[in-house]
Amino acid sequence: MDALPFDQARDIIFKRVREHLAPSTVESVPLAEAQGRVLAAAVTADRGYPPFNRSARDGFAVRAADVAQVPTRLKLIGETRAGEPSRFSLQPGEAVEIMTGAPGPAGADAVVMVEYSRREGDDVILEQSIAAGRNLIPSGSEAARGETVLTPGVTLDYPEIAAAAMVGAAQVEVYRRPTVAVVSTGDEIVELDRAPEPFQIRNSNAWSLAAQIRRRGGEPRVLPIAPDRFEETRERIAEGLEADMLLLSGGVSMGKYDLVERALADLGAEFFFTRVRIQPGQPLVFGRAAKKPIFGLPGNPISTMVTFEVFARAALDLLAGRPDSPLPFVEARLGEDFRHKPVLTRFLPARIEGDYGEALLYPVKWQGSGDLVSLARASCFLVAPEGRESWSSGEPMAVLPR
Ligand code: AMP
Ligand code: MG
Repeated sequence: MDALPFDQARDIIFKRVREHLAPSTVESVPLAEAQGRVLAAAVTADRGYPPFNRSARDGFAVRAADVAQVPTRLKLIGETRAGEPSRFSLQPGEAVEIMTGAPGPAGADAVVMVEYSRREGDDVILEQSIAAGRNLIPSGSEAARGETVLTPGVTLDYPEIAAAAMVGAAQVEVYRRPTVAVVSTGDEIVELDRAPEPFQIRNSNAWSLAAQIRRRGGEPRVLPIAPDRFEETRERIAEGLEADMLLLSGGVSMGKYDLVERALADLGAEFFFTRVRIQPGQPLVFGRAAKKPIFGLPGNPISTMVTFEVFARAALDLLAGRPDSPLPFVEARLGEDFRHKPVLTRFLPARIEGDYGEALLYPVKWQGSGDLVSLARASCFLVAPEGRESWSSGEPMAVLPR
C-alpha cells in the first residue's frame, strides 16, 4: 500500500468509521457530572431568554424618542432593582431609574447610562441621546421559549454547562462513553511499578493515550503490555477487541519483531492504510475487525501522541456521538526562519511566545520523535505541509493547538 497524504488518510477514517456507526446508548447524568460528555438530546429553553426586558446598565429606562434631543429633562416616576418586577408603565416625558439586571418598565425601549445623567429634584437631565433597543435586551431575544440552546453532539464544557443551568436542565441526556482498549507492545517496555533495567523503557504511551482518550470523553481500558511475541500480541489484541475501539502502540515499523500487523491479520482484520506521509508518525496502521476501528500507532512517544490527535481522535469523536471531528488549525507568525524537506507533512513541537499582538511561533529543539521531554515544553504543534520547503521569520504558519 502507498503512503497516503494526511488529509486523505483522515477521509478514509471518517468514511470507514461511519460505515459501522451504531447509534450509541443514551444515559441521563446530573449536570454536575456532565463535563466532557457528549450531549445526546437537545436542551431547550424553558422560557424566553432573557425572561423579561433586561437592563444591561445602571441608568434610566426611557422611550428613545424622548431623548432624541439632548440635554433633555424627564420626570422620574420610580426605581426598579434586579430581583423585583417592574411596576411601571412609561408615558411620554417619563423615566424610571433602573439597575443592571432589572426588568424595564412597559413602554421603555432603551436605557441611558447613569454616567450621562444628572438629578434635579424629581427630574433627571439626560445628556446623551440613544437608539431604541440600546442597553435594554428584549425578552426572548437570546432564545425563544422552546428554542434549542444546545444541539445533540456538542461536548459539554463550561459554556454549555452554564447554558444548561440557565434553562434549568439539572439532568442531561448524554451518550455512553465509548471504551477504548490500549495495548502497548515491546519487549523493552515496563510498567511504572517496576524499576527499569538500564536497557528498558517505562510505558509512557499507555499514559498519554489514556489521557487523550479521557479528554475526548472516551473510557480507556489499559491492557497489560504485549511482549514482542506473536501469540501474546494476538491474545492481547483479541482481548482489546472487546472494547469499542482498539489502539496499539509500537510494533508497526519494518523491524523483525514488529508483529502487530501480522497478529491483526490473523484475527481477520482488514487494513485501510498502513503508512501516512506525516512526521512524526509515518508507519500507521488503520484497520477494522469485528466492525471496530483499530489503530496501530507508532511507538515513539511523540509519534503516538500526534497520530492519536490527528487520526485516532477522529474515530473516537464519531464513536462518542460527535457529528464530526475537525482539527482546530490556527495560524501564527514565525519568530525565526523555518525549513523542512517537503516530502511529508510535519507536526513539530513548538511554542508561542510573546504577549497579545506580538505572539510569535518558535519550533522547540528536539531529538526526534522519541523526545517526550521536548513536547512537554511545547505548547502546540507547528504544521509544515508537504510541497513547501521554507518560511521566513514573520510569515504565518499553520499551528495545531495542543
Ligand atoms: P516501535 O514502534 O515498537 O518500533 O517503537 C519505537 C520506539 O518507541 C522505541 O524506541 C520504543 O522503545 C519506544 N516505545 C515503544 N512503545 C513505547 C511505550 N509504550 N512507551 C514509551 N516508549 C515506547
Ligand atoms: Mg517495538
